[in-house]
Amino acid sequence: MKIAVVGVGVAGSYLLSRLRDEHNIEGFEMFDRSRYFPICAWGTSKNVMKDFAKKVGLNFEEYILHTGREMIVDLGRELHYIRLRGLCTFDKKKFEEDLIKDCKVRFGMRVSSVLDGYDLIIDSTGFNRSLLPKVRNDYFIPTVEYRVKFSNPPFDDFYIKPFRELSGYLWYFPLGGNMYNVGAGDYFKRHCRVLDEFIKKYGGEVLMKIGRPVRITPPLYCQPFYFGNIVGVGESIGTVYPMLGEGIIPSLYSAETLVKNLDSFERYSKAILKMFKPYVTVFEFIRRGLTSGLNLKRDWILLFKIYLHMRFREDRYGIQARIRDFSKVINAARRRT
Ligand SMILES: Cc1cc2nc3c(=O)[nH]c(=O)nc-3n(C[C@H](O)[C@H](O)[C@H](O)COP(=O)(O)OP(=O)(O)OC[C@H]3O[C@@H](n4cnc5c(N)ncnc54)[C@H](O)[C@@H]3O)c2cc1C
Repeated sequence: MKIAVVGVGVAGSYLLSRLRDEHNIEGFEMFDRSRYFPICAWGTSKNVMKDFAKKVGLNFEEYILHTGREMIVDLGRELHYIRLRGLCTFDKKKFEEDLIKDCKVRFGMRVSSVLDGYDLIIDSTGFNRSLLPKVRNDYFIPTVEYRVKFSNPPFDDFYIKPFRELSGYLWYFPLGGNMYNVGAGDYFKRHCRVLDEFIKKYGGEVLMKIGRPVRITPPLYCQPFYFGNIVGVGESIGTVYPMLGEGIIPSLYSAETLVKNLDSFERYSKAILKMFKPYVTVFEFIRRGLTSGLNLKRDWILLFKIYLHMRFREDRYGIQARIRDFSKVINAARRRT
């Protein structure tokens, strides 16, 4: 098939690499090559990423910048420590560059309508969802992120500070060599102020400022996934874990699901809905918190389902999931002003 991949982020570049031997495939990226930079904190679970990398002939170990021992969660009155099981940061830029190394990609081309002459057009434009119909009642979290060099880093491992009602959080992810991705996202838009306060408190040289919204609407509410000969993957169809804003692995899952169902968009859609069903529960929990405040009495079943989902997938998320940690974080998020 002649395939166009529109948007060469993590899902698009993975698909280019994965399909290049069997198809006539070409990528389109709106940024110029020199200006392209993956806006992301670069955190992921190495347990899963190593398998994706292997499928395209890469060794994930070569991209790892920092492997975490524990997640430091700032609860306001105290710091809480959660054991990590494979959460790491990796050089996402280099990873994506290597994925497309031998592929044909046209940089500096923003595609906003159907391209002629292709059997299949993949919308991997992330938040933009440039080719598929717009999502109604879309939920997204605005974010801002700084690349910071600390001469005296305040923490030496992953650190997060959840916002009230779990409407977002501030993150501080180590990249090795005193470099950190420090960012914040908040549905209620307090993220810029909170991030600047953090930088003011701990110092550090800000080398770069980036940001964009993250879609947290799950795939169920991002339909259709296809339209004519256009099919969506990744964040364009809502593959982001709503509680964490974690979208790398879910986007790769969706890309791999597309590879397996290239001959049937209907089968692809069904597989996506099944795979991302647990995200609907997570989204519902977050949405209720955003619209009417966290209420454990009302929402304990949702929270218990989320806990079970993560408890049996600690390797997948790279983090230990314990009910004690869940309730501590949530109780603190309710108290926080
Ligand atoms: C600040 C921030 C921090 C994050 N941190 C993490 C994290 O630590 N771990 C994690 O797992 N997830 C994280 N995420 C989420 C994660 O980055 C995304 O969900 C994931 O990258 C989605 O992959 P994608 O390929 O679907 O889209 P993207 O990676 O967003 O790629 C989309 C690509 O399409 C291009 N594009 C858009 N429109 C067009 C167009 N019309 N024509 C051509 N090209 C176009 C864009 O330039 C981009 O290159 C973070 C997100 C943000 C914003």
